Amino acid sequence: MKTAIINVSQLKKTYHTEAGALPVLHGINLAIHEGEFVAIMGASGSGKSTFMNILGCLDSASQGDYTLAGQSVAQLSRDQLAHLRNRVIGFVFQGFNLLSRTTLLDNIALPLVYAGIPKTERQQRAQTLLTKVGLEKYSQHRPNQISGGQQQRVAIARALVNQPRLILADEPTGNLDSKTSQEVMSLFCQLNDEGITIVLVTHEPDIAAYAKRLVRFSDGHIVEDHAITQRSWPC
Ligand code: ADP
Ligand code: MG
Repeated sequence: MKTAIINVSQLKKTYHTEAGALPVLHGINLAIHEGEFVAIMGASGSGKSTFMNILGCLDSASQGDYTLAGQSVAQLSRDQLAHLRNRVIGFVFQGFNLLSRTTLLDNIALPLVYAGIPKTERQQRAQTLLTKVGLEKYSQHRPNQISGGQQQRVAIARALVNQPRLILADEPTGNLDSKTSQEVMSLFCQLNDEGITIVLVTHEPDIAAYAKRLVRFSDGHIVEDHAITQRSWPC
């Protein structure tokens, strides 16, 4: 039995706004094991992004426990949490979030600047990742000189730069057309085959079909959780 990389128990989240308290997650229980590929679906406003932000340690739960890679996040100091997050998790966002004035190579290498890695090694590692996502010829291009699908592949390369065990992707194909979405999903499949755990939010059934397990949210509850056996686009 593989160990759980994510273990969430009775997790609740309430936002406090000027209009009052807004309960969004109502006691989520979920374990995700090393090597899984999980698609999270659910209507807009059902709490998917809130949950992903908590999984990514970008936000904290109001109640309940979250254990990431064996560490209970509530018991960590801010520095310990940042260290754990940087070591374990790569993030991919719907809007790519690349720096527009910076070359693709430097976009990918940026997290290594914060990690204190010397420049030559940074550039080597970034170039290796550009090759991995099939964009080795574009190292000196800027994000606006390549397509949306290529930009998302660069963002995935950046997410990989710290060699994460887990990738969290919130609607990574939300801004892409169907063909480029397929390219991006093939890349996620390849990374999952290499052993990286993937948790991906999507509202498109065709995208969720790439995953091996489906979890559905409705109004801050998990209402469905099962393996995906019929893969419409196997990869
Ligand atoms: P989803 O990603 O499934 O569309 P979200 O997690 O983004 O859902 O949002 C769930 C609910 O929480 C929505 O009603 C949304 O308006 C609200 N919400 C999300 N983020 C915040 C926030 N930072 N402050 C207050 N309310 C929020
Ligand atoms: Mg969302």
